[in-house]
Amino acid sequence: MTRQALTLALLLAGWLAVPHGAQGQPGPPPPVEAAAPVGGPTDSAAPPAPDAAAADDPWGFEDGEAEDAKVETIGDILRPQLMDVSLTVAFLSFALVSFFLKSKPLKYVTLVMAVGYLGIMKSQLVSITDLFRLVDMSFPSVRDGVTWYVFTGFTVVSTALFGRVYCGRICAFGAFTQLMDATLPARLRVEPPRWLEKRASYVKYGLLLATVVYYMATKHFAVYRYVEPFWMYTRSADVVLWSMLATLLVATVFVRNLYCRFLCPVGATLGLISLATVFGIKRWSECKSCKICQKTCEWGAIEGPRIIKAECVRCDDCERVYADQSKCPHWLIPIIRQKKIAEATAAGRPVPQFIPLDRVQGGKGG
Ligand code: SF4
Ligand code: SF4
Ligand code: SF4
Repeated sequence: MTRQALTLALLLAGWLAVPHGAQGQPGPPPPVEAAAPVGGPTDSAAPPAPDAAAADDPWGFEDGEAEDAKVETIGDILRPQLMDVSLTVAFLSFALVSFFLKSKPLKYVTLVMAVGYLGIMKSQLVSITDLFRLVDMSFPSVRDGVTWYVFTGFTVVSTALFGRVYCGRICAFGAFTQLMDATLPARLRVEPPRWLEKRASYVKYGLLLATVVYYMATKHFAVYRYVEPFWMYTRSADVVLWSMLATLLVATVFVRNLYCRFLCPVGATLGLISLATVFGIKRWSECKSCKICQKTCEWGAIEGPRIIKAECVRCDDCERVYADQSKCPHWLIPIIRQKKIAEATAAGRPVPQFIPLDRVQGGKGG
């Protein structure tokens, strides 16, 4: 081998041995506009900075040793996020407890916590940007996104199991409008007629479809700011967005939960998932003719005996009536019958005949 060939071989071997900047972070970095507002942590860590020591170690021996020493454990990944994950899990657990206990006071405590903690402190809400992530198959890295996975996973699973529990007490925007509704004078409210309410509830599905299709066609990530007002917790927007938000909130004074019922694409998505609800709301056979719960529901989610799962946010209002033995005819009918039989017997009159209870109270249905 000539001297030039030996030199060339050595140079080639050296080039192969030196690392050449493999940028191993899949997926695009989040758009700048997306980083500030809602939807949890941003994805993708920045590629590692070039190591100055590499210049002194072109054969990469030290790099190899350093990489061995830097192997991360699950503990290393979780430790910096532990507080955030723990608080989120604690809040979600509290929300579930309030849901299972069907407690009105606990529900309002949950709503206040949702606004204060998830909204004002963290600005964390499930957002249509999460659907954009699904479209792009680009999710946050576990390294800094454990809370996002816990929060989003909880939302999807709880919706499939129980319906839109997320909308009923966890979403910081829905919680805000529910608190508005609870504190503003009822006389300000305008109840849209049932036919209009029903048709308007489809608008959110159209908005969901249009926004996702628009994003797929344009990749214009910041469009989310025009279809959902969740950015309000970041307190960062231009005059057009603030004007839109002000208009929405003023309208919400008169039409309760206006955005949630008619416009929210996330609510529409969760509504579609909730069609598969495993543990739905039970109904008595008396519900076929009784309208008490239908009048009680503020979400237009009861039609005769039927619960419209996609609209129901599991607010508990009808379930409290369902269990109330002083209000629900299912419990009252036997008591009234017993009373009439006792009165007739005491007065020596013929005992009144009723339709057998097992035919009236035939069963329950989800
Ligand atoms: S409908 Fe939308 S804004 Fe309303 S509670 Fe659900 S996710 Fe939140
Ligand atoms: S009050 Fe009782 S019977 Fe009437 S709709 Fe509600 S659960 Fe059914
Ligand atoms: S009152 Fe309406 S929204 Fe609330 S749990 Fe019952 S059906 Fe669902």
